[in-house]
Amino acid sequence: MNIGIIGAGALGLSAAYELGLKGHKVKVFERSPFLGGQASTFEVGGGRLEKGYHHLFRSDKDIIGLIQDIGLGHQLKWIESKVGIFHGDKIWDFASPKDLLSFKPLGLLDRVRLGLVTLYLQKSSNWKKWEGVTAREWLEKHVGSKPYRVVWEPMLKGKFGKYYDQVCMTWLWGKIYLRVASRERIWDKEKLGYPIGSFDEIFERLESKIGDMGGQVHLNSTINKITLEGGRATGLAYEDLSGTNGINFFDAIISTTPSYVFTKIAPFLPEPYKAKLDSVTYLSALVLILVLDRPLTKKYWLNIADRSVPFVGLIEHTNFIDPSLYGGKHIVYLTNYPTTDDPLYLMSPEELLEKYLPYLTRINPEFSRDWVKEYHHHRVDAAQPIIGVNYSNRIPDIRTPIPNLYLANTTQIYPEDRGTNYSVRLGRQVARMVMGDYA
Ligand SMILES: Cc1cc2nc3c(=O)[nH]c(=O)nc-3n(C[C@H](O)[C@H](O)[C@H](O)COP(=O)(O)OP(=O)(O)OC[C@H]3O[C@@H](n4cnc5c(N)ncnc54)[C@H](O)[C@@H]3O)c2cc1C
Repeated sequence: MNIGIIGAGALGLSAAYELGLKGHKVKVFERSPFLGGQASTFEVGGGRLEKGYHHLFRSDKDIIGLIQDIGLGHQLKWIESKVGIFHGDKIWDFASPKDLLSFKPLGLLDRVRLGLVTLYLQKSSNWKKWEGVTAREWLEKHVGSKPYRVVWEPMLKGKFGKYYDQVCMTWLWGKIYLRVASRERIWDKEKLGYPIGSFDEIFERLESKIGDMGGQVHLNSTINKITLEGGRATGLAYEDLSGTNGINFFDAIISTTPSYVFTKIAPFLPEPYKAKLDSVTYLSALVLILVLDRPLTKKYWLNIADRSVPFVGLIEHTNFIDPSLYGGKHIVYLTNYPTTDDPLYLMSPEELLEKYLPYLTRINPEFSRDWVKEYHHHRVDAAQPIIGVNYSNRIPDIRTPIPNLYLANTTQIYPEDRGTNYSVRLGRQVARMVMGDYA
């Protein structure tokens, strides 16, 4: 079979690899000049770095398996994570049950309650029971209003902004349940995985394997339209960097684009399928990366549980991966998840830097702006679908109502939160579905 795939992120490349292994001919079209989509990289200090911080959990079995299959298992390292929470102008350790019990901003009873509820969520695999309730409602009731206000509300508000009280408890469960699976035993220290050399190693290796199997990956190739003949999807109309237009014809087409792109390139999608696609709201990721000449904190991951600070996370990558890979530089991500009309999203890199820098002295009083040697600014659209209550009713089928046309994207990842592992899983799933349909 000849199969056309739109998007060369983790999902599109995994699907192409799976189809190639079974002898099918694939062509992948990617509008950007690079592979990897949301997990793509750029160069810093002679090394490659993700535009948005990335790591893996031990529960990420699909991508771990893929990394091994393509011969990169030796590059995947498991490193102890250092997680903290910034509250009351202080950094608190926040990685283990012991840390939780030492978290003084809450009274002892509240700490114990928070710990017991977290333990309960880590042990419960039946996520369906939370489908109809928001994280806010459930947490306020079960952890109590003070622990909710001190720990959870600032994080929900930071991550989801005005949508914070619409997020379903199932989403939060996914975060906690899968996180604990990154420890062999509950009291063990958490280890996170990272492919040394960056996630780009995985994408480049996939591209080369796809090529070896007779497939092609075309960068700088935007799909403008999916063509129909006799009610069936037959082709992809593309435009490349030089402005050249063309149509390629296929037996089956897989789109891995965000839903709002899909409805534009496939305007013929019938209701109610289209209504499902339109019902999901996405947030973007807004990331400012500081390249420093020294460390800023001792943490890898710092949750900012203080909404007077204009970013929700501070991720010091070089407290996870050795700075020698980046010419000895120290790398700090300051992150937010705004909508595309949010004033922060619309700020220029310089404006965002000026907005954020004063808050770094609250996190480390010694910080001085001359530590900043470079900075980089990235906006990643469609980074986070908002998972509201009863979300499973809104998930569009992978088989669209149009014969030969399939959709696989992050809105279909549920009950887990989106991540490279689940894109790999979905990529394989859609590839197998296509092969099964045409067998
Ligand atoms: C800041 C940030 C941090 C993250 N941290 C982690 C982490 O620690 N661990 C983890 O596992 N995951 C993490 N993720 C999530 C992870 O990166 C994504 O879930 C995953 O990469 C999505 O892959 P995908 O292929 O499904 O989608 P995408 O990567 O979005 O790929 C879709 C591709 O389609 C292309 N495309 C769109 N329209 C067209 C068109 N018309 N024509 C051609 N091409 C088109 C896009 O350019 C894109 O390359 C993070 C994401 C962000 C933004």
